[in-house]
Amino acid sequence: MRSVNTKEAALDRENRVKDYWNREDVFRRSMSEREGNETFVFYEGPPTANGLPHAGHVLGRVIKDFIGRYKTMQGYQVLRKGGWDTHGLPVELEVEKQLGISGKQQVEEYGVEKFIEECKKSVFNYEKQWREFTESIGYWLDMDDPYVTLQNRYIESVWNILSDLHKRDLLTKGHRVTPYCPSCQTTLSSHEVAQGYEDVKDLSATAKFKVKGSENEFFLGWTTTPWTLPANVTLAVHPDLDYIKAEQNGEVYIVAEALAEKNLGEEYNVLSKHKGSEFAGTEYHAPFPFVKPERGHFVVEAGFVNAESGTGVVHIAPAYGEDDYNLVKEHNLSFFNVVDGQGRYTEDVPPFEGRFVKDCDVDIVKYLANEGLLFHKEKYEHSYPHCWRCDSPLLYYAIESWFIKTTEMKDKFLENNQQVEWHPEHIKDGRFGNFLENMVDWNIGRNRFWGTPLPIWICDSCDHQYAPNSQADLQEKAIGDIGDVELHKPYVDRVQLTCEKCNGTMNRVPEVIDVWFDSGSMPFAQQHYPFENKDQFEKQFPADVICEGIDQTRGWFYSLLAVSTLFTGKAPYKRVLSTGHILDEEGRKMSKSKGNALHPMDIVNKFGADAFRWALLADSAPWNNKRFSERVVIEAKSKVIDTLVNTHAFYTLYANIDGYEYNEKETGEKTLLDRWVLSRLNSVTVVVNEALDAYDFTKAAKALEKYIDEVSNWYIRRSRDRFWEEGMTESKKAAYHTLHEVLVQLSQLMAPYTPFLADDIYHNLTG
Ligand SMILES: [Zn+2]
Ligand SMILES: [Zn+2]
Repeated sequence: MRSVNTKEAALDRENRVKDYWNREDVFRRSMSEREGNETFVFYEGPPTANGLPHAGHVLGRVIKDFIGRYKTMQGYQVLRKGGWDTHGLPVELEVEKQLGISGKQQVEEYGVEKFIEECKKSVFNYEKQWREFTESIGYWLDMDDPYVTLQNRYIESVWNILSDLHKRDLLTKGHRVTPYCPSCQTTLSSHEVAQGYEDVKDLSATAKFKVKGSENEFFLGWTTTPWTLPANVTLAVHPDLDYIKAEQNGEVYIVAEALAEKNLGEEYNVLSKHKGSEFAGTEYHAPFPFVKPERGHFVVEAGFVNAESGTGVVHIAPAYGEDDYNLVKEHNLSFFNVVDGQGRYTEDVPPFEGRFVKDCDVDIVKYLANEGLLFHKEKYEHSYPHCWRCDSPLLYYAIESWFIKTTEMKDKFLENNQQVEWHPEHIKDGRFGNFLENMVDWNIGRNRFWGTPLPIWICDSCDHQYAPNSQADLQEKAIGDIGDVELHKPYVDRVQLTCEKCNGTMNRVPEVIDVWFDSGSMPFAQQHYPFENKDQFEKQFPADVICEGIDQTRGWFYSLLAVSTLFTGKAPYKRVLSTGHILDEEGRKMSKSKGNALHPMDIVNKFGADAFRWALLADSAPWNNKRFSERVVIEAKSKVIDTLVNTHAFYTLYANIDGYEYNEKETGEKTLLDRWVLSRLNSVTVVVNEALDAYDFTKAAKALEKYIDEVSNWYIRRSRDRFWEEGMTESKKAAYHTLHEVLVQLSQLMAPYTPFLADDIYHNLTG
């Protein structure tokens, strides 16, 4: 037994233990030696390795490791396959930055093939730092054989799922008004939009739409997006709503009666009253003369108009709103879009051509004022969706895209969610349940380059669609010998298929897919299912537990549930642990720009991973947002880690002097104090195990912390004289025997929290 050097730095101790783990292959053996045992299934949510890990990543990884260790100690086999999320816009944007180019057009000029190769290279830029970070916090994870979303085998499994959905008519092309990022130039899915709401000040305007043939009669139309006014096609009124014509300052305005005062104030004369239906068909002059619809610029009826806000007369620009789009389709009116793919006005709106539309609100309002067509303007604050990636305000466009009809299986989604145990519990029917209740079809297509290609080929002659379900299927249907083609753009775009209906030539659609579908497919694709590992897949599905940050409610938690429910009808996990944010001491979000971010590696280097882990788990429940700082780690180190080190040191120092060797049967003469500390140990063990089986890390930690203090400040302090007695008395033997049992069992209880120190004690005392 080695005497403990209390001066040894935490980091040195941890490196010593880490070396031992590596030397003896302890992690791998903890899995292989339990082959045949009951499995406890854990899925690793794949991080992206093109950015550095931050403090927020630590909490999730510490809990994941905790559960793996705890369940392993209970005898389960817990496989822990690592994974990397490698596709998507973040990678593309990073590469664009490196190359000094921006936007799809410049990528195409640069060359898609070269661009893709750059993306591939940049994906693992920070892999080394991630590995070091993961090892340094003691997270046991198999990073030598990870699943990687860019591999052909992974993509092939994803294709297999998509092909199945396409066959079942759940994956189709359609027109929807879809959130779109003009800067990234791609559409977003609803779960992406949900991640990026920000409060902003915008300008609303009430414009005057002059009734054709009248001298001075105007419909008043209110809009929160003045930039859509140049694309006005129609005005909508509710047929049964009461409207008035009111005279004010020599002009006549048409508004809903209930909204008249709100818009006109108190000084106006009511000339006549009308039902909305009386205005249907009334022609008007649009405030902007640039676009002339073949069929439009007359009033139509719409059920969605109400008297709750605005004027009761709704300006309709079909390209930018779901209701607008449907209404225009219903009335067979003209459709046009005056905005290009980068969110700028096209040549159809000459005064503003080339300008980003949302930046033009003020000038649009000025233009109206100059023309005498502005009735009112107002600044207002509202929550507006921004791109979760690049922070641009999103626009809503009616575009054609590929959708997965998740709404057709909504009941199954809700049913599967009900079977999941959520921590914290309120997420089930709150944040997550609400999101499912309000689900819209999953917009899966992305008009970008670096992603899993959407595996749909369309016949040039007869429009027949086909989605191959494997590489072999692709090779079989392909024109010519394509070999083992890489399943990325542009390589896969060169593959043409023969149409099974008409023998024509089929080409692939240009889209790649939403990167969240990649990670959502991991239960299947990490095993290359169904092409390999069917048995392993069965054993590793569904997960007993997954754990990620609360921001994944609409991210990975959703995409996992969605892919699995669509593909198998089953929930992919039994239990979800959703962790809160790590905030600074004042309760602000940590961010690089605010300069209040904690660097995980700095903390580990200064205080050790054990103290860091303890501080994260013992202080408060991980579901809550956590105020965190170095101070919490320092306190954890001095109160818990150092106390335990000193207890270990005390024992080894005197036991070595006395040449004491532990023998289970030679208990000595136990005193009341011995029996007390052992009985406390047993009750603490019960409390800890019960709490941990319920994923209550904090309750278990509090019990342990109290006990560590009792052992040091009560038991040792009051037993000191016995350790110092001359010779090996029965009382001294009992004291050593007791403290040995306490330390060994305590180290096991502490192992999931502080694996380095726990292992150091355990191996030193048990050999
Ligand atoms: Zn963006
Ligand atoms: Zn055909």
